[in-house]
Amino acid sequence: MSTILLAGGAGYIGSHTAVELLQAGYDVIVADNFCNSSPQSIKRVEMISGKHVPLYEVDIKDKKALSNVFLKHNIESVIHFAGLKAVGESMEKPLLYYSNNIDTTISLLEVMAEFHVHNFIFSSSATVYGTENPIPYIETMPRGTCSNPYGWTKVMMEQILEDAAKADPALSVVLLRYFNPIGAHPSSMIGEDPTGIPNNLMPYITQVAVGRRDHLTIFGNDYPTKDGTCRRDYIHVVDLAIGHVKAVEYASHHTGTEIFNLGTGTPYSVNEIVEAFEQATGVKIKREYGARRPGDIPEFYANADKAKAILDWKAEMGLYEMCRDSWNWQRNNPNGYQI
Ligand code: NAD
Ligand code: UDP
Repeated sequence: MSTILLAGGAGYIGSHTAVELLQAGYDVIVADNFCNSSPQSIKRVEMISGKHVPLYEVDIKDKKALSNVFLKHNIESVIHFAGLKAVGESMEKPLLYYSNNIDTTISLLEVMAEFHVHNFIFSSSATVYGTENPIPYIETMPRGTCSNPYGWTKVMMEQILEDAAKADPALSVVLLRYFNPIGAHPSSMIGEDPTGIPNNLMPYITQVAVGRRDHLTIFGNDYPTKDGTCRRDYIHVVDLAIGHVKAVEYASHHTGTEIFNLGTGTPYSVNEIVEAFEQATGVKIKREYGARRPGDIPEFYANADKAKAILDWKAEMGLYEMCRDSWNWQRNNPNGYQI
């Protein structure tokens, strides 16, 4: 069976994707510098799947170190998860974000060309639709104007990958635009493990639930939405991971660039998420309204028809499973992968 390299595969989405690829019969290898993850996640992947996953501590920017990984394995496809992703930090350290995210992409493309590896699946984001596109977002819309350097790195990397695929007719690029991944593997052995204070909603909620934080601050309740809080398209990380398995299959039979939204198509407000969490877990979340967070858009969600039509993929799990699995991961691992 084919071997898939997961660059940045020890992280939240990569580790879940590793499990689904292994279950689908692929061999998986992971290269990560652990700047935002722990090698423990891959140990857990091995426990869930009962399979060995070769793991390399490599900075993906380092082409020589990356080449050594390609020398050791007969890689058929690469999934590029290796990026920095904190929006606020990207505003404070834009150069770090541009250099890490873009250089990892170019390094992978160059080493892949050297080893005649042609399939590239990329972790993009709904953020590339920017601020001016109408909702729901559909893949035919132009990339928009981003409000932060993190978003711009995704826009730029999409452009770089499209240009590379235009120049090399053998290359197959799949750009996966994720909406808001939450949840964890139902085994509760792997999940999201942010360092420091969580930036994202669900890990913040679960840390309040487990007693690590006092209360949730809801960023704004004066948006033009039903209950005044922002609405997003939350997707279970296992559904998202299965989308990658479909994308790997697709990439191996096509060339050129194809873009897919990976979302559910249904938005929920921050208040609805908190209420769903309370119902699914029986744990009350202390919450307060605070100021709007700069750069937040009132509402966005996916048109998910293209992934259904072409990849035969759609999200199967609902808000209940997303909340249940986020909570089970957090309460069974109150300090994440730190033992
Ligand atoms: P994550 O931080 O958990 O995983 C990213 C992994 O990449 C980490 O293990 C990190 O150590 C590794 N990494 C970063 N730079 C590296 C480098 N130079 N060399 C080697 N490894 C490196 O994040 P995630 O949530 O799993 O996200 C994966 C990808 O999906 C990222 O590119 C992110 O921007 C994108 N994405 C995430 C979300 C989300 O909400 N989680 C949404 C849209 C897009
Ligand atoms: N949010 C919030 N409090 C928090 C974290 C997030 O109210 O502590 C809100 C945020 O304003 C947004 C939604 O939750 O409306 C989802 O935010 P997240 O950062 O998870 O994802 P984003 O869509 O911004 O990438």
